[in-house]
Formats: sequence, C-alpha cells, structure tokens
Amino acid sequence: MRLSFTKLALYEFCPYAYRFRYVERIPIPFSPRLTVGAIVHSVLHRAFARLCDGVRLTRADLHELHAAYWREAPRLNRERFPDIWERGHELLDGFWSARGHAPGRPVMLERRFRLRLRSDDAYTVEGVIDRVDQRSDGLEVIDYKSGSRPTELPGRLRTQLHTYALALERGFNSAVSRLTVYYLTDNQGISQSPDPAVADDVLNRYQALAERVGAADFKPTPGKHCRYCDYNDRCDFRWTEDAEEGRETKTSS
Ligand code: SF4
Repeated sequence: MRLSFTKLALYEFCPYAYRFRYVERIPIPFSPRLTVGAIVHSVLHRAFARLCDGVRLTRADLHELHAAYWREAPRLNRERFPDIWERGHELLDGFWSARGHAPGRPVMLERRFRLRLRSDDAYTVEGVIDRVDQRSDGLEVIDYKSGSRPTELPGRLRTQLHTYALALERGFNSAVSRLTVYYLTDNQGISQSPDPAVADDVLNRYQALAERVGAADFKPTPGKHCRYCDYNDRCDFRWTEDAEEGRETKTSS
C-alpha cells in the first residue's frame, strides 16, 4: 500500500477526514491560502531549477516566472483573483529582497521518494522534497511554507522533515546534517539537526497508522480540531463550540 506524509498526517488529524478525502475522494474546497502556497512553490521550483543549471537569476526573472504561471494556469486569471495574484507577487518579491543576494545552488529539487517502512512489508511512504542543498557536513533538507514563522517547529513539520531525512539516507545513501523549514511570510527559517530518536518514532507511528489504514479503521475522532477540518460541513460527527456557554456540543453520535 502506498501512503504519503500528507495522507498519514490527515489520518492522524482524524481517520474520518482521511476517509472523506482518500476513500470517498471528496475534493477539498477551494482555498485562496492553499492556492497562493501552490503558486509560490511552483514559481520557486522553476527559479531554483535555473540555479541548478548555473543560470543567474534576477528579481525580474522571478516576477516573469510568476506571470508565466498565471498565463499557463487554466483556471486562474488576475482579474478574477486579484488578491491571490497580489499575495503571490508579494511573497516572491519579499523572498528576493531577503535571499536574492545569495539564493544558493540546490543539488536536488522536488525530489520524489518512496520509503519502505520495513523491509518485510508492503507499506511505503511517498513524497516530494522541495529542495536539498549541499553543506560541508552533509545535506540540508529545505521545505518552504507560505505562512509566518512560529516560535518553534510544530510536531507535524518535525515529522515531515525527518521523513525526508530518512528517505534521503535510505534511498540515496546520503547523510543529512540539517533540516530547515523556511517561512516565506517573514523570510525566516527554523533549522535543526536530524534526531535519530524522532526518526525511530516517526517510523513506528507510520507503521501503526499504515496498519490501521490497511484495516479500514476510519473511526471519527471529533474535537476542537474539527473547526479546521475541510469536511466539517458534511460530517455528522463534528464538534461545535457553544461560544456563549463556553461549552462544546456534539452534533451527532
Ligand atoms: S469534522 Fe471532525 S470528526 Fe468530522 S471528519 Fe472532520 S475532524 Fe473528523
């Protein structure tokens, strides 16, 4: 069975939400925030690909790549979604102001991987690593997020980065020395060294989750996180919060 970090993260969020998304295949609603993130990721990928080829990049090149993305995207046009266009432009411009003087030269971009959880079973975790740079002491995994830098790395992202480190070390036989999430809203990153204990924990959690997915265990786990669920409107098990009473009420059981 092929799983991915995204799928397993959703399963951990709520198995019932996983069922909506990946069993019933109900698409998530259109989200301007996610659309901005997808656009900026794609434009940076194209820009970094030029750096990989040794081509010099300018601010104007970055903006032209952004404009080209909009010209080519079938469902996007600037008149219809001016806020999305503006936000993407702003994030890319800010990135160039902060990093344009030293954008680096990645050694891997959008690298696909497949990580077998155990040598003797059929579960694999797949994904795509945004960017990998070479440092003097090993590889640096870099993941770009369009939001603001939190005070510390959320557990979900620690899991994501350690998944990537495991994939590089097992699949490409390369030592990883640094894990970084780069936040484009304020152009700051959070970095840490890979932690073998976290990596072991990630593998064990993946194995347990994969077995539950394999057994079609999609029991809902309602709670305050339902407020952030893409399927809140259609879920019979969602929790709602009675703001006046300061008490939570379940809509169905
Ligand atoms: S609304 Fe809550 S219980 Fe329902 S799928 Fe979403 S997270 Fe799960």
